[in-house]
Amino acid sequence: MKIAVVGCGVAGMAAALALARRGCQVQLLEAFAEPRPLGSGLLLQPSGLAALKVLDLAEPVIVRGARVDELDGRDLAGRRVMAMRYADWRPQAFGVGVHRATLFGVLHEALAPAGVEVRTGVEIVGWEDPDAPRLIDAAGGVHGPFDLVVVADGAASRLRELLRPRAKAPVYPWGAVWANARDPDGVFAGALSQRYDRASTMMGVLPIGRGPDGDADLVSFFWSLPVAQMDSFLTGDLDAWRARALAMWPQAAPILAQLDRPEVFSRATYRDVRIGDWSSGRFLLIGDAAHGTSPQLGQGANLGLIDAVELAERLTPDVVKSVRGYQAARRRHAGLYQFISRWLTPLFQSGGWLGPFVRDWLFTPGSKAPGARQIAAFVLTGTLRLGRTPKALRP
Ligand SMILES: Cc1cc2nc3c(=O)[nH]c(=O)nc-3n(C[C@H](O)[C@H](O)[C@H](O)COP(=O)(O)OP(=O)(O)OC[C@H]3O[C@@H](n4cnc5c(N)ncnc54)[C@H](O)[C@@H]3O)c2cc1C
Repeated sequence: MKIAVVGCGVAGMAAALALARRGCQVQLLEAFAEPRPLGSGLLLQPSGLAALKVLDLAEPVIVRGARVDELDGRDLAGRRVMAMRYADWRPQAFGVGVHRATLFGVLHEALAPAGVEVRTGVEIVGWEDPDAPRLIDAAGGVHGPFDLVVVADGAASRLRELLRPRAKAPVYPWGAVWANARDPDGVFAGALSQRYDRASTMMGVLPIGRGPDGDADLVSFFWSLPVAQMDSFLTGDLDAWRARALAMWPQAAPILAQLDRPEVFSRATYRDVRIGDWSSGRFLLIGDAAHGTSPQLGQGANLGLIDAVELAERLTPDVVKSVRGYQAARRRHAGLYQFISRWLTPLFQSGGWLGPFVRDWLFTPGSKAPGARQIAAFVLTGTLRLGRTPKALRP
């Protein structure tokens, strides 16, 4: 079976790999001349780690990443607003913070040995003959025909617009700036730590282990802000900002000291993808292209990894039928996380007072109640689902 995967992100690479290992002939088509990871760090949940295990890639990621046992979110008075512990789900469970380049590198290195043909500098802009699709790139080149086109071109997917013109993917009004820093004393080891001032200020530190250049003890720092203020933040008075952040979170002093130039930051915006159907004939959307959401729960890459494993398991020579079966199986899991992320995001990233008031009123006592803690841990691990268990999550 000949398959095109459009987009060399986490979801695209994982899908290309899983499908090639099932004997499919896979071409991975990527717009960038040199595919590269964007942003700084991300948190892999037990769900994503389980999918990586199916791909035989969990170990190299775990070894290079940093173990995370809990999410510890506090207000400025030090009161715990969020306390989610992986051990409340299963005693041995943990998450792994990774540099994006680590995850990218581990997936990318596995492509050639599996027989995936990677073509870069190929921006797909359309296709002809939907029954035996040939993909057309921006330079007029034609690729294919293919039995299946897996569309993994991210939250701002261009192909989604063509396949599903009525789909919506608005950018969230709030985003974040991110930067990597060193934490040689391990002040932030073991937890994703966050500080909140209502919902108008949120900052956090995620340990991510080793970087691509061999740097150890890395952390990702993020600062939430409205998308409309990103430019003025990066051209503004960083010293004044650091003084303000330091006053709110003195423990972060060694990290903030390293964030002294605008060049250390990368910008992040997110989209809320709303789409009726992920498949159309021989085309299937996966990853952020299908179900992009805010990273409030740290699930996007994990969902993309599970998509990949599930698709490879379900694909049969009856392509159209099997992608519909895949969609039916994946929708409830991904849709549930989209729903929760959509609901949670304004409680942590917005200008009003009501959202954070409700958040603190609900979550502060909830973080201590045993039943509520278990539910929170279930959500965090990426394993909460309605309906059938995806293959990657089966024991
Ligand atoms: C600030 C931030 C923090 C996050 N934190 C976490 C976290 O902690 N845990 C987690 O699991 N997730 C997290 N996420 C979400 C995660 O980054 C995404 O869900 C994931 O990277 C999506 O992967 P993808 O492969 O679907 O898309 P992408 O990574 O966006 O990849 C899409 C690829 O397609 C290529 N492309 C685009 N258009 C075309 C075209 N027309 N032709 C060819 N190629 C094309 C792009 O160049 C790109 O390489 C976070 C996201 C953000 C923004």
